[in-house]
Amino acid sequence: MDIFEELGIRRYINAQDTFTKYGGSCMREESLRAMAEIAGSMVDLAQVQEKAGDAVAELTHNEGAYLSNGAAGGLMLCAAACMALDSEEAYHALPEGGERREIILQRAQHNPYDKSLAAAGAKLVFTGEESAPPTEAELADAITEKTAAVAYFIYHGRDGSLPLERVLQIAHGCGVPVIVDAAAQNPPMENLWRFTETGADMVIFSGGKALRGPQDAGLILGRREWIARCRRWGPPADGVCRCCKTSREAMAGLYAAVKACLAQDADTEWRRLSSACSIFEQTLRKCGFSRVWREEEGPVGQAFPRVFGEVPLGSASALSAKMRGEGVYIGSEERDNVIILNPLMLTPRQVKEVCDALFRCTAGGPHTNTMER
Ligand SMILES: *Cc1c(COP(=O)(O)O)cnc(C)c1O
Repeated sequence: MDIFEELGIRRYINAQDTFTKYGGSCMREESLRAMAEIAGSMVDLAQVQEKAGDAVAELTHNEGAYLSNGAAGGLMLCAAACMALDSEEAYHALPEGGERREIILQRAQHNPYDKSLAAAGAKLVFTGEESAPPTEAELADAITEKTAAVAYFIYHGRDGSLPLERVLQIAHGCGVPVIVDAAAQNPPMENLWRFTETGADMVIFSGGKALRGPQDAGLILGRREWIARCRRWGPPADGVCRCCKTSREAMAGLYAAVKACLAQDADTEWRRLSSACSIFEQTLRKCGFSRVWREEEGPVGQAFPRVFGEVPLGSASALSAKMRGEGVYIGSEERDNVIILNPLMLTPRQVKEVCDALFRCTAGGPHTNTMER
């Protein structure tokens, strides 16, 4: 009896997105092996953080790296590092006290994840409008002696924001660091160094999305001095960030995932995803979809292809609910009555299983013919 049977847990195939509520992504063999290896021995946790962090920094062409318990935990620790700097007293005053506790964010970028900055005790100060960026002068004016950092979300509000380059120039001109949230911005893997090369002080990624490391793991990549502060104030130190604990297993698993991702050939990976998309396109046409197309961008602007299809009969949400009944998560867009198939997390066998489920869920579509399969 396996764990699914023992506990009565249903398995799903994820052809939608790396959502936490579905378990994010499936770990690679390399990560599972590294986790099992390190789990068997006691270690000095600070040494694991230092050695794995230094190795990840080298792999990703960064000055430093910190292995956090996720992108949200990474945001919290970066906020604390910016507020505390090198002061024990300032760190231990968090989350309630301290002189420099403001973090500036463009209003267009306001999103559910910015609460992780506030969780460390930061007060978010918004500048600009919901759909329009602040002027450069407005951003500069928002920065005062109470400012600990400027935060920047790569995807959220990207059409109503000042570009990262300008924000970096203004913040650095005022002597203030910039924390970048790029949690879901892989692939391409080059993003692991792109934003730090642009000048960001700390850049955050999820370990459990496309990197396929442990779900409860994430990266803070950036300047040596900031990574040193993350290592100092992060767990096992007590204080506000004690709740950001990263296990040695998560650190080892994430290190192995980053190494495997960077060893993988991007063209081969693109061809794998493209051939899954071709299979989805053929399947949708056989199921009676007449408008089927491919977009070469992930849900938050990543570089990978997905297939879209306008549902010919009934609603996209009804079809996606039916697919869920078959154990398959797919995306749907109400407004255009479109379903979305994402090949990123699928094995070839799962691609076939998604197609079989589509045939079952659209039975009766004009071109459905079981013999053809
Ligand atoms: C997913 C996500 C997070 C949270 O990531 P975790 O690794 O699950 O903590 C934070 N910010 C953005 C923009 C995200 O997409």
